[in-house]
Amino acid sequence: MIKTLVFDLGKVLVDFDYSIAGRRLAESSDMKPDDLLRFLIKTPLFVEYETGLITSEQFFEGVRSGTGFRGSMAEFAGMFGDIFTEIPEMVRLQATLRKRGLPVYAFSNTNEMSIEYIRQHFPFYTNFDGHILSYEHKAMKPNAKLYEVVERISGCKGAEILYLDDRPENVDGGVARGWQAILHETTEKTLAQIKSLGLLNE
Ligand SMILES: [Mg+2]
Repeated sequence: MIKTLVFDLGKVLVDFDYSIAGRRLAESSDMKPDDLLRFLIKTPLFVEYETGLITSEQFFEGVRSGTGFRGSMAEFAGMFGDIFTEIPEMVRLQATLRKRGLPVYAFSNTNEMSIEYIRQHFPFYTNFDGHILSYEHKAMKPNAKLYEVVERISGCKGAEILYLDDRPENVDGGVARGWQAILHETTEKTLAQIKSLGLLNE
């Protein structure tokens, strides 16, 4: 029986587009938008940041020296964070399920600046029973260590957990532990699967 729900954030509850940050950061640097975007996505600093191995200050300093960005850290954080848009139908689904009494946890590979931005701009972010964030636990999905944190915090395991994520390798990490999982592709498909599990009536 399903006792808890675990939601990925990126491409499930919020969409994101790093090319927006690439364009805006490029305006205050000597790099072209495409080159800046490539740097942001490819730099090992990004994974180090989302694994909690470096601080926001260190990440900013690394990007600054790698791209020649001329703004302040606060300006950088504003541009780096402003890439997210809410996915309203999925946010509604998450709220409906939580209202029905099931604990809901956020489970995300992410970093401090992105979470700060999401917390400030999207009220749904506070509508969880807890947040399991890669940078706070020094492990990224699909590392089993982060899934163990979910089990510890929720007090649930195996088939008691229903997990939604858009990335197959992350879903596999849950399935390997006996979790029930939905590979999120479209809102329609996910809704149909949630209904077939008996979690929604209408
Ligand atoms: Mg995702």
